Amino acid sequence: MSAAGLLLAIPASAADAGPGAPGIGDPYYPTYGNGGYDVSHYDLRLKYQPATDELEGTATLLATATQGLTRFNLDFALDVSEVRVNGRVAKFATSGEQELEITPATPLAKGQQATVVVRYSGVPGKVKRYGFTSWQRTPDGGVAANEPESAWWWFPSNDHPLDKATYDVSVLVPDGSAAISNGVLVSQSSKLGWTRYNWRQNKPQATYLATLAVGKFDITRNTTANGLPVINAYSKDLGDNDGAARASIERTGEIIDWESGYFGPYPFSAAGGYAPNVPTHYAVETQGRVFYSPAQFAGGANPSVIVHELAHQWWGDSVSLSRWSDIWLNEGFASYAQWLWSEHEGEGTAQELADWVYSQHPADDPFWTVKPGDPGAANQFDGAVYDRGAVAIQVLRNKIGDKAFFALLKAWPAQHQYGNGSIAEFQKLAEKISGKKLGPLFETWLFTAAKPAAPPAAPKAGALRAAPAAPQAEPKSWKQIAATHTIHDR
Ligand SMILES: [Zn+2]
Repeated sequence: MSAAGLLLAIPASAADAGPGAPGIGDPYYPTYGNGGYDVSHYDLRLKYQPATDELEGTATLLATATQGLTRFNLDFALDVSEVRVNGRVAKFATSGEQELEITPATPLAKGQQATVVVRYSGVPGKVKRYGFTSWQRTPDGGVAANEPESAWWWFPSNDHPLDKATYDVSVLVPDGSAAISNGVLVSQSSKLGWTRYNWRQNKPQATYLATLAVGKFDITRNTTANGLPVINAYSKDLGDNDGAARASIERTGEIIDWESGYFGPYPFSAAGGYAPNVPTHYAVETQGRVFYSPAQFAGGANPSVIVHELAHQWWGDSVSLSRWSDIWLNEGFASYAQWLWSEHEGEGTAQELADWVYSQHPADDPFWTVKPGDPGAANQFDGAVYDRGAVAIQVLRNKIGDKAFFALLKAWPAQHQYGNGSIAEFQKLAEKISGKKLGPLFETWLFTAAKPAAPPAAPKAGALRAAPAAPQAEPKSWKQIAATHTIHDR
């Protein structure tokens, strides 16, 4: 197309323009994310003062309109002072809990690139949405790490895993404080009492997997045998949990190498974790830099939680869910990785753990009323999504055999790397690799609100059908695995 033709085309498509939808279409969270555009990159330039919890920032979003847009929404909860679209001042208004409605000076045509600059400020710890804040204040700063919503308290976004983007996060903090975020620490420099940390995530990342922590941290750096940088950070105020936190998180490189044997090459440019001095109990698989509450280490070293969160780097981060009802693809597999680790450590096989979970819940236990394949928003992080979800994976392994099963564990992350996937697509791939029809298995174990009649027992060699599950002894690993179920409490 000639330049003249291009100029003519823009007003023609803009004539069909309308407002973008205020949600991306997720049945669990109708207002999360937005319609009409796709973000490819977030550039966040921030300044944070730990003493007062004041955050100011300029977010520059690179986006492409997927329809003609007279207006579009971002999701955000702090105070906005100015919005520009392609250099020109845009009108903006807020609505609902977290909608920022932006009206560009001229409508965007379908396919048009847009650079959206949002200037903002606020005290995130004081901002509540839907009755809560995802910004945790600490004695020395603040932390954003939560699921499924965390971004609203520190940057404006299209807040749904369907719209993944790369990130540059640049944070100015007083000398002596550190800023932790995702990816590689590109540079760090100090001037006039303030230090700037520049972090880069160069692989697509879902908004809820972006994290920011400011505080007094001890940062450790290592490199795996494959050359992967591992950057970990520990609050200087972890008290008695300090040793156990380090004895766990410093094993990040080792556990990534071990998991790569099951799931294929590690998908990101850096790895690591951080433990800020928060009073919560959960951990979140923030991309390439996992958030761990120190309470995860109150009982001593806890490699099991490291295994869980690092498994998410393949199951949830590189391959993100398509909508939140697909949560089994995240939590079922991260839990199953803990079962594989238990086997590896000689603390109980995955089969023994499956038999244990099955035998621990009688048929009238409400545990069985949660469908891991569609648990509902209120039960999205219910223990059943983790435990029954992992049992379902063991049943699948028994059904298709180890060869097909372990091929599947590598094929799924390869097929959907840096994108999204759904349970239906996963079933299709499992059927393709195994040559077996799996509809009834998925229906029984993921989509039925009742205890399956047949136990998850592995077929005995030479036996025609599975033996009934005998009363089980508790696998040695169970208590630690169960303890990581506080992972997503709010
Ligand atoms: Zn998890």
